[in-house]
Amino acid sequence: MATFLNSPDWDEHERIELVHDRVSGLTAILALHSTHCGPGAGGTRFWHYADPADAMTDALRLSRGMSYKNAMAGLPMGGGKAVVLLDADRRKTDAMLAAFGDAVEALGGAYVTAEDVGASEADMVAIAQRTRHVCGLPAEPGMAGGDPGPFTAFGIYQGIKAAVEFKLGKASMAGVHVVLQGCGSVGGGVARLLAADGAKLTVADIDDAKAAALADAVGGKAVAAAEIMATPCDVFSPNALGAILDATGIAALDCAIVAGGANNQIARPENGLELWQRDILYAPDYVINAGGIINVSLEYLARRDGQPCTVDEVNRRIGQIPDRLREIWHQSAEKGQGAEIVAGDMARKLIGR
Ligand code: NAD
Repeated sequence: MATFLNSPDWDEHERIELVHDRVSGLTAILALHSTHCGPGAGGTRFWHYADPADAMTDALRLSRGMSYKNAMAGLPMGGGKAVVLLDADRRKTDAMLAAFGDAVEALGGAYVTAEDVGASEADMVAIAQRTRHVCGLPAEPGMAGGDPGPFTAFGIYQGIKAAVEFKLGKASMAGVHVVLQGCGSVGGGVARLLAADGAKLTVADIDDAKAAALADAVGGKAVAAAEIMATPCDVFSPNALGAILDATGIAALDCAIVAGGANNQIARPENGLELWQRDILYAPDYVINAGGIINVSLEYLARRDGQPCTVDEVNRRIGQIPDRLREIWHQSAEKGQGAEIVAGDMARKLIGR
């Protein structure tokens, strides 16, 4: 216990629930980092963890990230996250979803769930049979809600354009070389938006077929996943899993900007400093990737308060992401500190820490 409380990932979480349901076989961790700004909102990751200790680390790091993300996005939501520990076959059953819905309901609205890696809209519909505290549910046309992926991609696309203007002085993406790691919901969406602006794209995924299909669709090039971080480019955009910006990863980079949607990109605090020392402009992940949580939080609040919220309003709020990034980069230049440090200080102040 003492070791756990000494871990930087603990970060004084308000509450951590470890749930096991014998009937369905559900094992889940629900981590509530902070309710300072409102109910803790953050998705549920359905994943197989070879070492269950990694599940706890993931839940804690992701829920703290949600506190920062929601506060920096100006949402009246705190930070929380859940992970469901799947077996090696990633077996997910209706009974597990029902038991997970009961676990969310038992927190009485202190935690609001949504999609994360491994979850679908259909999963949220199943969870909604047992609790009101879920979002990312299918939306009426023109209204907030549904799959957060496209909204996340839209915010990242705008953040990349802001970074290119800030660092490279270019108002257009035409001919700007962006390298994308991960060709899923977010990476694919970002690539399509950038392609429409004439950006030059190189993509990679551990699923080579997925990378080849995306490269084909956006007129780009696919390379092996192992090569992507060292590919020379203007912008490296991580849209797969976290902790890729460690000392080795940063040393491999050959870019002016890192801006992408993966959560928890920076492996350890000192790695943010290494990016800064290499004069690479960094868009803090929890600021640039807030589009999806803006969409589903506004959906949740609209349903809770009986006040409809349109997609136009969601997009207006997502359109504020570039301003937040510019504020971070300006302060970073003024203070002589990396963007990650500046953004972390801003976020902690907003959540009263
Ligand atoms: P996804 O599962 O649709 O796509 C992820 C892709 O990354 C998959 O195609 C996978 O094969 C690939 N991948 C995994 N490891 C890789 C590696 N080492 N190299 C190259 N490719 C690899 O997930 P997504 O919804 O696109 O999310 C991507 C990232 O963005 C995740 O870190 C997620 O937490 C984060 N994020 C997503 C959202 C959202 O709205 N979906 C919001 C905020 C943050």
